[in-house]
Amino acid sequence: MKIPQNAKLIIHRLQNAGFEAFAVGGCVRDSLLGFTPHDWDICTSAKPEQIKACFEDFNTIDIGIKHGTVAIIVDKEPFEVTTYRVDGEYRDNRHPESVTFTSNLREDLARRDFTVNAIAYNDEYGIADFYGGESDLRNRLIRCVGNPDERFREDALRILRALRFASCYSFSIENKTAAAIHRNSELLNNIAAERIQSELVRLLCGDGAEDIFNGFRDVFAVFIPELAETFDFDQKNKHHRYDVFHHITHSVGLIESDPVLRLTMLFHDIAKPRVCTTDKHGSRHFKGHQLVSADIAREVLSRLRFPTDTIETCVTLIICHDVRFNGTLAQVKRVLNKIGVENMRRLFKVQYADTLSQSDYLRGEKLAKIDTAKAQFEQIMAENQCFSLKQLAVNGRDIIDMGVTGGKQIGRLLNLLLDSVIDGTLPNEKAALLAVAKEYSVKE
Ligand code: ATP
Ligand code: MG
Repeated sequence: MKIPQNAKLIIHRLQNAGFEAFAVGGCVRDSLLGFTPHDWDICTSAKPEQIKACFEDFNTIDIGIKHGTVAIIVDKEPFEVTTYRVDGEYRDNRHPESVTFTSNLREDLARRDFTVNAIAYNDEYGIADFYGGESDLRNRLIRCVGNPDERFREDALRILRALRFASCYSFSIENKTAAAIHRNSELLNNIAAERIQSELVRLLCGDGAEDIFNGFRDVFAVFIPELAETFDFDQKNKHHRYDVFHHITHSVGLIESDPVLRLTMLFHDIAKPRVCTTDKHGSRHFKGHQLVSADIAREVLSRLRFPTDTIETCVTLIICHDVRFNGTLAQVKRVLNKIGVENMRRLFKVQYADTLSQSDYLRGEKLAKIDTAKAQFEQIMAENQCFSLKQLAVNGRDIIDMGVTGGKQIGRLLNLLLDSVIDGTLPNEKAALLAVAKEYSVKE
């Protein structure tokens, strides 16, 4: 394993002062998997004050002295160094009441959540793996260190961490660990929304997200109970081959790995059960599900404390996800005017994933319509065709100069002109637009 120079420096200094020191956790796991770790955590038998004494000539930050963590800044890069510790009793399903320092690596590794995260390494000792982490890595398994029920009761966030690791690395979850996840899922009610949010996003963006959602849907229903309404909800409609839930999860798996896009797919059809009607032939319809789904998305995402711009983008895309492009440039321009360029690009991806998660019925035609709209969009952009007030050859100033007053009046007039330009009945040229504006304003 190749430890970067700066991490080596820290480990060697601690060793030279008579302490043990190892790289541990995510960095060892990722290295063994052949990935480049995003950071290197170090554990040591040195107590926090001893750590600081070893690095008096470096900048250090007390991240959690009580928990034994000191960050050492080497070449502007922080390295977290944590004293070997044993966690005390957990009373709130999240934090230990106290921590005790220990000089025994094996005890420190025992408090870690999963076997694959409980491997330590240094160049002198090699790999320290007391809980079968290497073998689980080889078999691509997430397994708790120790008794899984106890571990999830101590800290319920581990439930989502397990699902996140499984999703991001396409690992399976070992049977006993999986059973304990199902048994203890309600404990997630005790976990702060912000923590759930960050695990959820990473999990959603993993390659294995679809499988994890399908296999552990009861867990997601704990903090998104609205999702449970879609479970086994038969769409009874020729456009669909999956029930609502499996349609949703399949579309999540199909869209590119981007938080906003994956969240959009997760919520795009969530309201279908609420608005469902059945016609005389027994087919189901979901009129208006876009708007209600957008409302539910807004509520859930706010509850999980997502940033406002994430919420607004998802809501916009969910509202538009079912726009049926009809082949006209004017329609593409109107949608563009409403949602903007960046969301337009996203909308095509959303529609692709949505369509590919439906049945084969008319699939070719549906995809062709998206392709046409996309080509038209590219043309509009390349030719800088007018689709918004900003691009209109006249502005508010010009209308005021004509003698029209009142913001509402001016806005109405400009939008009438924009409509005609978008429809192609007027050229986007100042003289022509002003002439028509005069006519309108006289009429009014
Ligand atoms: P990544 O940084 O990619 O999210 P990681 O495994 O490094 O993965 P961190 O949250 O950085 O995750 O934690 C570092 C290490 O601390 C983990 O590898 C694990 O050994 C331990 N750890 C983190 N969170 C917990 C927890 N909730 N319960 C037990 N051990 C944990
Ligand atoms: Mg880490």
